[in-house]
Amino acid sequence: MRALLLEQNDGKTASAVGQINTEQLPEGDVTVDVYWSSLNYKDAMAITGTGKIIRDFPMVPGIDFAGRVSSSQDKRYNIGQPVVLTGWGVGETHWGGLAEQARVKGDWLVPLPEGLEARHAMIIGTAGFTAMLCVMALEEGGVLPGNGEVIVSGASGGVGSTAITLLATLGYNVVAISGRASNTDYLTQLGAKRILTREEFSKEGRALDKQRWAGAIDTVGDQTLATLLSQTVYGGTVVACGLAGGYKLPTTVMPFILRNVRLQGVDSVMCPLHRRMDAWERLAQTLPASFYEQTATEISLEQVPETAAGIMANTVTGRTLVKVR
Ligand code: NDP
Repeated sequence: MRALLLEQNDGKTASAVGQINTEQLPEGDVTVDVYWSSLNYKDAMAITGTGKIIRDFPMVPGIDFAGRVSSSQDKRYNIGQPVVLTGWGVGETHWGGLAEQARVKGDWLVPLPEGLEARHAMIIGTAGFTAMLCVMALEEGGVLPGNGEVIVSGASGGVGSTAITLLATLGYNVVAISGRASNTDYLTQLGAKRILTREEFSKEGRALDKQRWAGAIDTVGDQTLATLLSQTVYGGTVVACGLAGGYKLPTTVMPFILRNVRLQGVDSVMCPLHRRMDAWERLAQTLPASFYEQTATEISLEQVPETAAGIMANTVTGRTLVKVR
């Protein structure tokens, strides 16, 4: 079967499409015929060898996939059943979705919700799944439509663009932060009411600034997250899920102790199964049909390395879907 294989030569990561056998697949109780995978920021880091995502080579990358069960020793899964997988270290420490088959633990899989095609599941992918977890975290923090504006950073990215679509569809008043003026029309179509520049949030400001946001979803980290915290209204919630701009957080305790602001982290990788199933169900119900047309670019396995480099260079907009078979 065809697979994208990562090797390490002289400390540098090299990637190429090659052949592997079913016997070479790692241990697991369910084997899946992979139809679709997607490219996320973490995949791009792994494939370009940025940030030491992968330590054991050769590795098949691909942190998410959707397909059909081809064999199973797990009673919950039958041959032919449509499934989706994100996280659990797949594509990092365990061979992943950028191959025609993957063998994984049944515990890691989610049955595809009724009405959601495999292709659509991978337009959503890890990024969209994370966006749903972020929206759920905002709701659990008490941020409801009508409370005021909710802001999303890294708006053109996979997480950001899906978060904007979800929030707008659920009736929130959404503001986007983007570094790319060229994406204004795209972000407006997704449902953003206003688009603010990255620069506005990347400068160090006051510990407590004017109260502007009922809630925020931050995919960028560093000064952007600090600025969002300083501008969040009394009792608001800021959800942090990413580090596209850096892993530091140069903030103060002021938003927390004087404005009762909540900072909620979101991790999609080790998210428990019941919450995963809830999130996938809600994605299937909430995303409008237009989402699947607006945000996806389809590529082949062979095009993955070049597109991964584009993601690292911030020249890719929206979701990248990989047609594996
Ligand atoms: P993308 O690469 O698709 O998008 C990131 C976006 O952030 C870009 O489109 C760009 O948007 C903006 N951006 C890029 N570089 C910078 C920069 N230097 N400073 C400020 N903004 C920048 O990534 P994803 O949407 O897939 O992921 C976003 C983040 O979330 C990543 O850090 C990723 O690792 C993380 N993540 C975390 C998960 C979790 O489980 N916690 C799961 C999935 C992702 P624009 O041009 O509009 O500004």
